[in-house]
Amino acid sequence: MKTYRKELTFFIPERRGIVNITDRVREAIRESGIREGIVLVNPMHITASVFINDDESGLHRDYEVWLERLAPEKPYNQYRHNGYEDNADAHLKRTIMGRESVVAVTDGDLDFGTWEQIFYFEFDGKRNKRVLIKIIGE
Ligand code: ZN
Repeated sequence: MKTYRKELTFFIPERRGIVNITDRVREAIRESGIREGIVLVNPMHITASVFINDDESGLHRDYEVWLERLAPEKPYNQYRHNGYEDNADAHLKRTIMGRESVVAVTDGDLDFGTWEQIFYFEFDGKRNKRVLIKIIGE
């Protein structure tokens, strides 16, 4: 069995943003030389998510509106976590959208359904954040 590890760094200039990272994950699979296995992708932070869904701008806007309804960013003083920090909403949004995505690797590529794409979802940006890619297989 082979393993391969890679980190990506993202700097989102706004508080929140969605980035399609599918091609970056494909690149890592190519670099790994692994043909059959599993790829894990997760942010190394507790205020960001990696999720799989459609690359459709209307849907991405819907996520923003829906998450703001569930865990509004403001007013900051509605959250107990917000004292030194102001990012309680980002922790909650990350919990809703999940931590990681795991995808099967078949014949050296992502074994995806037609519309599946991998996204990094930032909830507390304006700083560098890391994403881990770990591939295991042979
Ligand atoms: Zn915090």
